[in-house]
Amino acid sequence: MEIEISTENIGELIEKAFENKEIKVYYQPKYNAVNGKIQGAEALARWRMSDGIMISPAMFIPLLEELGLIIQLDWYMMKETCLFLSEEIKAGRHVVPVSVNFSRLHSKEPKFSEKLSEMADEFKIPRKLLEIEITESALAFDGADIIDFVRSIKDAGFDISIDDFGSGLSSLNFVKDVPASVLKIDKSLLSGNCENEKERIVLESIFGFANRLGLSTVAEGVETKEQLGFLRTCGCELIQGFLFSKPLPEEEFREALKAADSVPETEDILLTLPPASATQLLLNAVFKHFPLVILSNLSRNSFYMMAYENFSTRSCPSTGVYDELIVHGASTMHPDDQKLFSDTFDVNDQIAAYEDGQRVRSVITRQLGDDGVYRKVETTNYYMKNPASDDILAITLSRAIE
Ligand code: C2E
Ligand code: CA
Ligand code: CA
Repeated sequence: MEIEISTENIGELIEKAFENKEIKVYYQPKYNAVNGKIQGAEALARWRMSDGIMISPAMFIPLLEELGLIIQLDWYMMKETCLFLSEEIKAGRHVVPVSVNFSRLHSKEPKFSEKLSEMADEFKIPRKLLEIEITESALAFDGADIIDFVRSIKDAGFDISIDDFGSGLSSLNFVKDVPASVLKIDKSLLSGNCENEKERIVLESIFGFANRLGLSTVAEGVETKEQLGFLRTCGCELIQGFLFSKPLPEEEFREALKAADSVPETEDILLTLPPASATQLLLNAVFKHFPLVILSNLSRNSFYMMAYENFSTRSCPSTGVYDELIVHGASTMHPDDQKLFSDTFDVNDQIAAYEDGQRVRSVITRQLGDDGVYRKVETTNYYMKNPASDDILAITLSRAIE
């Protein structure tokens, strides 16, 4: 059965939906990009009518915005979130900060931040467990009033997230004036597997800019491990997306939190890296000697090309499946060296050798350059285990030796 929802009937339908509890809060967890632990969540509205029909937020949110009824929905979501958190806290269970979406229309609502504080107090929720998401477009185009609005929320003790950052045409300049604490990078900036170099430059710049302004970062819509790998290299803090979890009904979210709480703390090597400038200097020195540098996750059969400037074959893909990289690499070798190359860098053989204690593996092969000339090339893999996940990682350094 099809149901037509329009500005004509949505007012009446939503009224009933609130009464009959047809609207549920789903929680999409946000994960620490380095150790994979749940560190937050976003509350998202799900509307299932009494006859079982689901209505997508893409359908009802814009209609509610148009009629101003979104105000009621947002407060309903906030209240349900507070109720959930207060039950969890009372039961002594582990909780994480939850962000709630608030439409731009609230900026015109009198005593907004007072109302927020009253609700948090009514349910005895510490302010740091609640975060307010406001879209970039609302912040960028509503002018000076919105800055005062955001400041009053901040002054009341709640963190503010700039949602959908990078989705509009807004300038970066407004970010410095908005007293927000979190930048949520829009999923439209993450196409495919981040194999497009220009796209990577844009993302790297945004994360650099956020870090320097002292904003924490969340990437949303993360669907692949290649995206995750790249986001980690940008210093992105939290990951939200189908790769880890879709939005979950309350019961499943509670289970996910319970599971997260029982996993011991792990520390990742990436957390203990020296400051960015020293790292960059070191990397520049490495890149000078080794024009081809690849970071691979052997356990997940994936790789990310860190540098491949001036290397003899420029046709390499920049991120993807490790097995395919080796097949590609072998195809650029002298026919007599191809088997040696693919045997040396066979994924399973390398993992087995790591388990037997091997930490380095190197070969010299003849590689065909773009100029049609064979050159001797030394390719070395250094192995280590990622302490956060037990995955076996390899750094490949490669250079011509004649
Ligand atoms: P949003 O705030 O940008 O929320 C993130 C959306 O991305 C959610 O869609 C979520 O389900 C979806 N998503 C999460 N991970 C992935 C992924 O890996 N890939 C893809 N393709 N999508 C992913 P959803 O739940 O359909 O919500 C759509 C929009 O509706 C939200 O976008 C938000 O702007 C709005 N919305 C939802 N609930 C509320 C609410 O209570 N109040 C207000 N004002 N807006 C809401
Ligand atoms: Ca949001
Ligand atoms: Ca968003």
